[in-house]
Amino acid sequence: MPSKPFYLITRGILLAALLVHGFTIFLEKYPTDHERSDAAPTFDLANLTPAQKQAWAAQQMWAAQQPPLVAFDLEARDDVKIVLATSEMAPKPKPAANWSFTFEPPASESVAKFRPILEDEWRHLPASLVKKCGLRRIILCSELEFNGQNVGGFASDNFDLYFNLSLSTIQDSPYVRRMIHHEFFHAVDFAIHGQVVVDPFWLRLNSEGFDYDWSIKPRHLDASLGVPGNAPPGFINRYCTSGVEEDKAEMFAYMVVNGKQMEQWGKTDAIIEAKRKQMMKIVEDFCPDMNDDFWARMKQIPRQMG
Ligand SMILES: [Zn+2]
Repeated sequence: MPSKPFYLITRGILLAALLVHGFTIFLEKYPTDHERSDAAPTFDLANLTPAQKQAWAAQQMWAAQQPPLVAFDLEARDDVKIVLATSEMAPKPKPAANWSFTFEPPASESVAKFRPILEDEWRHLPASLVKKCGLRRIILCSELEFNGQNVGGFASDNFDLYFNLSLSTIQDSPYVRRMIHHEFFHAVDFAIHGQVVVDPFWLRLNSEGFDYDWSIKPRHLDASLGVPGNAPPGFINRYCTSGVEEDKAEMFAYMVVNGKQMEQWGKTDAIIEAKRKQMMKIVEDFCPDMNDDFWARMKQIPRQMG
């Protein structure tokens, strides 16, 4: 007969395996495609076997000890949950993909700082646009790293947005406000095109012979890349020259937060103006509420420059 410590350890391992398995099932329950079922999942404790009931009870106990997953609902109109990250929530790399993605839970002070900014920006977005792009969660985390590089945000292709709140830049600034719209636009872009790295219509707006330079991308937190105007004509900043998807996301973010500035800029830079018009077309074709009225509303919001 096994000794008592052996029995306890074995039971502990089994319980841990069950919990991990339960968590995996929980994660996989999320639909990964656009069509979300409205049917509520059914769960009947009475139909479980005694062993399942025991595992269920253990999981309930474990869950009660965890910090709340849903930190707050963003807008009652949107089915988007704001979630405080736990380290288990990093998306698993796809078998063929060579990437790593890690983060830590956020500090409560940074959540408190970021929350009003996020709520303030979110309410400007039409509910129809949020719904159409299929976004399901915004995950607030810290120490967000993609392939070992610290990143400010990340839009995953399973309709989650991640924001890194460990950056010292989390304060009420136009930069942080634009970051929200920048990451959100990646989700919109993905919903429209099924990918974000190819857009022949956008490419032909650039001067002949121009090529995006992907090697800049890992340096995206380098402040000099984000300085407006410090780039070739037709680009808001040098980060925009790192890829068509960043060029578009920056254009969208600047148009929402600094619309007046972009309108002025377009008067002296024909490529910027063509991109501004193309952005209006892209989003309005996708969601009719992203019409001229939307952009006019954005320009009326009192905004800081910078
Ligand atoms: Zn981006």
